[in-house]
Amino acid sequence: MTNMLLKNCDVLSFAGGKAHIEFNHDIAIHGDSITAVEKTGTLREAEFEQCMDTSGLLAVPGFINTHAHVPMVLFRNLAEDVTVSEWFNDYIWPMESNLTEEDVYWGAQLGLAEMIENGITCVADHYFFMDEVAKAVEMAGTRANLVWAIFAHQGEEMLDKTIDFTKRWQGKADGRITTWLGPHAPYTTNPDYLKLCAQKAQKNGLGIHIHVSETAAQVDLSLKEFGITPVQQIRDCGILDVPSILAHVVDPRGEDFDILASHATGIAQAPKTYLKSGMGLAPIHQYMEYGIPFGLATDGAVSNNTLDIMEQMRLLALFGKYQKLDPTSMKLEDIADIAFHGSAKVMHLPGKIGELKPGMLADITLIRQDGLNSTPKANPLAFLIYCAKSNDVDTVLCNGKVLMQGRKLLTLDKARIQQEVQNRLQRLSQRLPAERIAFYPA
Ligand SMILES: [Zn+2]
Repeated sequence: MTNMLLKNCDVLSFAGGKAHIEFNHDIAIHGDSITAVEKTGTLREAEFEQCMDTSGLLAVPGFINTHAHVPMVLFRNLAEDVTVSEWFNDYIWPMESNLTEEDVYWGAQLGLAEMIENGITCVADHYFFMDEVAKAVEMAGTRANLVWAIFAHQGEEMLDKTIDFTKRWQGKADGRITTWLGPHAPYTTNPDYLKLCAQKAQKNGLGIHIHVSETAAQVDLSLKEFGITPVQQIRDCGILDVPSILAHVVDPRGEDFDILASHATGIAQAPKTYLKSGMGLAPIHQYMEYGIPFGLATDGAVSNNTLDIMEQMRLLALFGKYQKLDPTSMKLEDIADIAFHGSAKVMHLPGKIGELKPGMLADITLIRQDGLNSTPKANPLAFLIYCAKSNDVDTVLCNGKVLMQGRKLLTLDKARIQQEVQNRLQRLSQRLPAERIAFYPA
């Protein structure tokens, strides 16, 4: 077991319950965990095998991406200025019919490399050919909850195949990989299929990651067809009886808030996607009042264009203030709490990630503070929320291992990945609507 000392950084701390910055501290790491965070000079450097000078850097918990489709970076910038139904039916699902396992392998590597560069160490990913994503995560060194996305028309046989996938990868890569089930959404499945997913999740000790109530139109359609909202439907089908991640829930209604507050669930929020797709904004102030956990997410790069949690953090702060028309709401410490504690809760990993203190996993992002955008160095928390750019991220560790140092990726071959993905563009961007993998009901 190696041990390492990160020396003389500033540290985002939640000690005392409120986010603040502790200046000139050292972080001690043994194996995969943080064992001490102390004022520089307190810990004896000679006791560590490795010592990294992190002077001037701001250490924050590794950013957490609570809902993504990582390999969709393959289709980045290929579906712009379209409606949600055009996005699915005319672009994404026709293009995804071109995917091979090897495409997903290279797409996953590109997305993971981009996320490491952006300081993201943990992702909940929802996609296809997930063995390839798992291989890429194992190599990249990050943490991930992986689900294989399925639709009702694929039947029980496909559901069982995805359960086999969960068994192959559960707890693998030194415990960095966890696996759940991933029925796509209520609108691409049906109540019987959702019930079957919930029963099999229960039987196999798995959680469920699913898209729910992404738009008002989806909720209206559900009310028309079933007389209940999508949130009520997943509750009735047993999905909420196992741990879950709900992507979006932009339009909860009435009883939905009580349902969400009384189950072991968390909501992934991707504000850039909602603004860009004209989906509306989730009632995050009500989520806070009800104590419903929510965290930050990028969704896929075809709706969000980048995999950048710092950008989501800033947009969430801005739209939260805008929703209330109150500049004193969504304070700096509230945003830090959502980005780290909220996201850790959504991942069902509170107490393990999302904070830098003894006993937590050593998932750490170190950000430069010597740029023009951080001068003068007056309020590092405001710098983090409103000024820092993802390319200010300098060094990234996950599970006690260094994945990027001085912006050099240490686990993935950036040039090769870029070439492999570029070579696939022409074939993957072909669109044959008749070949689409699913249908979005408009
Ligand atoms: Zn999604």
